Amino acid sequence: MKKISAFTICVAALAASSFLACKKDDETTTTTNATLPTVFSKFNSSVSISVSGNYVVLTTDDIPDHKSPYFINTDSRYEAYNGTNPMFSRAPNTIVSQKITFKIPIGPAVASTHAATPMGPMGIAVNGVVIYNQYAAGGVALSAEINGFDQYNGHPQMSGQYHYHIEPTYITSAKGKSALIGFLLDGFPIYGPLENGVTLTSSSATLDVYHGHTSATADYPNGIYHYHITADAPYINGNGFYGTAGTVTQ
Ligand SMILES: [Zn+2]
Ligand SMILES: [Zn+2]
Repeated sequence: MKKISAFTICVAALAASSFLACKKDDETTTTTNATLPTVFSKFNSSVSISVSGNYVVLTTDDIPDHKSPYFINTDSRYEAYNGTNPMFSRAPNTIVSQKITFKIPIGPAVASTHAATPMGPMGIAVNGVVIYNQYAAGGVALSAEINGFDQYNGHPQMSGQYHYHIEPTYITSAKGKSALIGFLLDGFPIYGPLENGVTLTSSSATLDVYHGHTSATADYPNGIYHYHITADAPYINGNGFYGTAGTVTQ
């Protein structure tokens, strides 16, 4: 059988007017940035987004686009607690602007081993607020910490980094319960609890141990693995990342 050389492929590519596909064996491979998927236009403009190689790079100041009792009370963004939790107790922390950069795979893929999610940021919501996992400091359940969540289900940790562990109700109120909520570090999207008219729970047969499944979504009509938020623990993610996590720097 005739061996097709790289040069032959190159000429064929040129003939097809596809110059970018032309690469000879002896050429140094240069990194070409992938194209930013249009789904990332769903992020607020407060999040700066670019592409680096095969990663989407998102940088956020992590300031929520809604009010909170965790702004200082002279700030115009302060709003006293008006949520539904009679056990609400405001922690002493206040919201502080951050500089957090996520680098997430542009073409997420299932990992052969599923790493546990970290403490601290494991994802980013479309409004730029970071997402934490289902544990409070020390790896304990959120049951006590939940009483510190504000009326939009977020709160700042000790250094003022505001975050959600559970459904960000400001986003689901504005965009709907089946809307895109954000992404985890492995590049897979997170959706709200409602799908095809059904409100999912963590025990829904359709969700796997990572709290997701593969099907078409509004943003990915050809189907993609995606996580779902539920009202019950573990809320957003279960037993770790479905895919290979990117990096977060802060
Ligand atoms: Zn927390
Ligand atoms: Zn789904």
